[in-house]
Amino acid sequence: MIDTHCHLEMEDFGADLDAVIRRAKESGVEAIVTIGSDIGGCEGAVSLSAKHDFVYAAVGIHPHDAKDFSDDVYSRLRTWISDGRGLRPHRDADDCISAPKVVALGEIGLDYHYDHSPREKQREVFEKQLLLAKDIDLPVIVHSREAEADTLEILRQSGVRKGVMHCFSGDVEMAEKTLELGFHISIAGPVTFKNTAVLKKVARHVPDERLLVETDAPYLAPEPFRGKRNEPSYVIETARFIAGLRGISLDDIDRITSLNAKRLFGIGEADEARIAYKIRDSLYLNITNRCTNKCTFCIRYQSDFVKGHNLRLGSEPTEKELKQAIGDPSKYKEIVFCGYGEPTLRFDVVKSVAAWVKKHGGKVRINTNGHANVINGRNVLPELKGLVDAISVSLDAQDEETYKKICRPSFEGAFAAVLDFLRKAKHFIPDVKATIVEMEGVDVGKCEQLCEGLGVGLRVRKLDIVG
Ligand code: SF4
Repeated sequence: MIDTHCHLEMEDFGADLDAVIRRAKESGVEAIVTIGSDIGGCEGAVSLSAKHDFVYAAVGIHPHDAKDFSDDVYSRLRTWISDGRGLRPHRDADDCISAPKVVALGEIGLDYHYDHSPREKQREVFEKQLLLAKDIDLPVIVHSREAEADTLEILRQSGVRKGVMHCFSGDVEMAEKTLELGFHISIAGPVTFKNTAVLKKVARHVPDERLLVETDAPYLAPEPFRGKRNEPSYVIETARFIAGLRGISLDDIDRITSLNAKRLFGIGEADEARIAYKIRDSLYLNITNRCTNKCTFCIRYQSDFVKGHNLRLGSEPTEKELKQAIGDPSKYKEIVFCGYGEPTLRFDVVKSVAAWVKKHGGKVRINTNGHANVINGRNVLPELKGLVDAISVSLDAQDEETYKKICRPSFEGAFAAVLDFLRKAKHFIPDVKATIVEMEGVDVGKCEQLCEGLGVGLRVRKLDIVG
């Protein structure tokens, strides 16, 4: 877990900072970004990042202090950034690092709630710092309170497209506009409070690859610590709550948000490609990245990652590697041959690994585009009898024309092949479902009728929600 926003340099932590940092480590917090928001705070953040291996710093001038911004402040920010960015930990004998690690410019933005600085000055200082971020290609951490329209407009004009709207407090519409700018959205403790229905909606809405979590400590402690001083170890309570809202596990939200933080702030190592990966309590197998479709919505064209797992294979795994990666199949709800590519392009591997999974007490599902019989030049379904418990077939359209537009298959007659596959599958596999993605051009009602005629169930997926 990564706490992407806290203020460890504040005097609230003066008495027990070491204990706070120890508790964060013990509770599984992998990294902390501590944020300077005035000159003293920036000095503190930079110095903490130099002292603790898993603490990183952001420097910037908060809108509250915009009135004190000067050329000298600007050049100090520039110096901290050029001294601190790009430098990675060098452990010395005391397990400290010898260089600071400045990973973002922030927190900067607008605050029209308190108006501690004149609004004109806030906007001017925000723009100057955005220019600096653009110039040195560093992500920004943005604070916006009761100033949504101006914040978005200034961000849009600045051309900065790498950053995070921290402690997000807007609605879904504001979230959408923020995402359109390429920004991440960071959710803090208030999502756990009773009266925050709008924020809960946002926490469900943000796509996996743009979601971050934070404490904003010492402020805004999540339930069950509400009212107490907040600290980085409590980020897990916020993450647990968001996982519940999104119907995934704490491990999933940890992996997703940690990956996002690492990529945005350039911290940690790049993740190796996975051939077996867990989501909720199922294990997914990534056996190929090849496919006979080129679906317009396919995640492979947008990202190498699904739920924080890197799925871009360097080479296709062998049967032996897959079995090793699975370990004990009975530990999982099901083992799923999954679609970051079409698994039945490696039908022999699917068959053999599925037989092994069944022998060792596991359940098997295949997610497929339904082209298996064309790919393999025969009806392969009888060969799956007894080996596969469930199959999800991407129907994706109500007719051939729509299918061609959305799925862009590599051979003629693909839609008819999918229908034929679905029709036959129910004779050999106990649980057969067709799937479609809710998107323009797809007629859900007609797809339902089609499935009724085929005698199979239909699952409707939301666009952009994978895994
Ligand atoms: S069938 Fe699945 S893996 Fe293939 S292009 Fe479509 S979405 Fe991607």
